[in-house]
Amino acid sequence: MEFVFEPLPWRVIFGVGALEKLPEEVARLGAAKALVLCTPEQRATAEDVARRLGEKSVGIYDGAVMHVPLEVARAARAHAASLGADVCVAVGGGSTIGLGKAIALEFGTPIVAVPTTYAGSEMTPIWGLTEAGVKRTGNDRRVLPRAVIYDPTLTLSLPPALSGVSGMNAIAHCVEALYAQNANPVISLMAEDGIRALAQSLPRVVREPQNLTARTRAQYGAWLAGASLGAVGMAIHHKLCHTLGGTLNLPHAETHTVVLPHAVAYNRHAAPVAMARIAAALSAHDAAQGLFDLAAAVGAKTSLRDLGMREPDIDRIADLATANPYWNPCLVTLEGVRALLGDAFEGIRPAA
Ligand code: NAD
Repeated sequence: MEFVFEPLPWRVIFGVGALEKLPEEVARLGAAKALVLCTPEQRATAEDVARRLGEKSVGIYDGAVMHVPLEVARAARAHAASLGADVCVAVGGGSTIGLGKAIALEFGTPIVAVPTTYAGSEMTPIWGLTEAGVKRTGNDRRVLPRAVIYDPTLTLSLPPALSGVSGMNAIAHCVEALYAQNANPVISLMAEDGIRALAQSLPRVVREPQNLTARTRAQYGAWLAGASLGAVGMAIHHKLCHTLGGTLNLPHAETHTVVLPHAVAYNRHAAPVAMARIAAALSAHDAAQGLFDLAAAVGAKTSLRDLGMREPDIDRIADLATANPYWNPCLVTLEGVRALLGDAFEGIRPAA
């Protein structure tokens, strides 16, 4: 066994009621002017957060949207600068945390993240900015949130359908962490337990969205998934989802949900140890089939056709995704990726 392990400087405050610790976390950073970030839909939650901060809140910016368009980042940066904000409190999913990262990238403003989905951005130093339909991403320690407050209470309002696919998105991070080029034993433990926690809780979350015990277990899994994503490299699955999202504007979490079983089937023979761990965590005989069945159990769509992709796009996406592939446990071939996308397009349950 050989590995290099350098943990990121994470600070995580987890538990029901953890949001009460927010003023303490802002004070700990020595900050006095907090700008609260959110999407337009989560304005009411952001107002509650701002109230908790009292006079340390200098305003709310509710313009976060998916994939951080450059013009949105510029407007938010100008707003933060005009208020003299010395901390951003990002309340929401990956879109809102991504906006905080865009501000941090420009000014070094620290972020306190309060995640309300299972996407995992809060645990990573990865930023993304979209200009003229093209998303650029990068890795910069300055954008890693300085504190992450996971309060499962805030996930109770996440609609059941979105909860299911958001959780599958988190599982995708764990899956690819287990066969990453720079996998290490600590992150692999976290990734495996992340799959287990999410697989056990998501069907219950979807059936009983107000069940705080299930919500807590799902968010625990999402934390492990975010940590996995932040710590090691991702492979063919993430490359395909970035290409599908960026080129065809397919919905983020739903696309991850559809593609994951097929990406795992593609890598099946190249990563047998990871496959066994994924299957065990899912309580399934086969990793790819177990993921497909879990997606169906949470009521998710299982074909790219149902997400709005058209059949002629298969070749275009295969060309783009193989032109500059991420490292993957097995060779990424045009023919192989076309077949993978064809199966995902049709929503075929992977063969054992
Ligand atoms: P999102 O942040 O776009 O949220 C989806 C919708 O759900 C929004 O309308 C939001 O307001 C709403 N919502 C969120 N939480 C809610 C709650 N608890 N109750 C009610 N409504 C709620 O979706 P996402 O999947 O979290 O994030 C996707 C974006 O994040 C993509 O752009 C993706 O590329 C990015 N991302 C980045 C990283 C990274 O490491 N940089 C990691 C994961 C995702």
